[in-house]
Amino acid sequence: MVSKCPACNGLTQLEESCPLCSSPLEDCGTISIYLDPYGPYEEPEETTTEGETVTGDDQCVHFLQCPSCDENICYTVSRDQI
Ligand SMILES: [Zn+2]
Ligand SMILES: [Zn+2]
Repeated sequence: MVSKCPACNGLTQLEESCPLCSSPLEDCGTISIYLDPYGPYEEPEETTTEGETVTGDDQCVHFLQCPSCDENICYTVSRDQI
């Protein structure tokens, strides 16, 4: 019921800067959205009731995109940051 990720829970905001132009990156959500464009063919190996993909034990990977130059990075949020 409780997500492990503070960013998903709104407990914290990701404040990363673009490595190219230093603009503040926008949090586009968890990376699972982008890794699963053909959903129906994915094997339900790991099922989470929260509808959130959990990478590793206590990590959540967020997709951050720069609104200025379209640079994007993956940012791993750890539960330790709570
Ligand atoms: Zn998250
Ligand atoms: Zn940028």
